[in-house]
Amino acid sequence: MSIENQELRKAGLKVTLPRVKILQLLEQAESDNQHFSAEDVYRALMESGEDVGLATVYRVLTQFEAAGLVTRHNFETGHSVFELEKGDHHDHIVCMETGEVIEFFDEVIESRQRQLVAERGFELVDHSLVLYVKPKKA
Ligand SMILES: [Zn+2]
Repeated sequence: MSIENQELRKAGLKVTLPRVKILQLLEQAESDNQHFSAEDVYRALMESGEDVGLATVYRVLTQFEAAGLVTRHNFETGHSVFELEKGDHHDHIVCMETGEVIEFFDEVIESRQRQLVAERGFELVDHSLVLYVKPKKA
């Protein structure tokens, strides 16, 4: 049984071809650190000769999200972006012009945020930080 099949079963999802294909795609992309819109997934599947409709891609990604396999980000770029849930914490830089998504982790920012809430009598549970950027003018 493939890794993807095992992961689907573990997440409580039945193994179907679209689910396996989409999970494979997200896992391959992980090495390049990518964040996909449903359209990106749909296009990549088409390019590799897989016949999976956009509505199916949306449905599968939503199922993956509900099962905790992927995280959905609603960046201010007009569409949701999905990434495989790795269980690590990172924040994002999003380019407003190209839609490019870059992950970062900065210990100074992390500890400053913990300190900031602690000073107000709280404990940090979670946060997500998105820096919206544009290419620097030369
Ligand atoms: Zn990310």
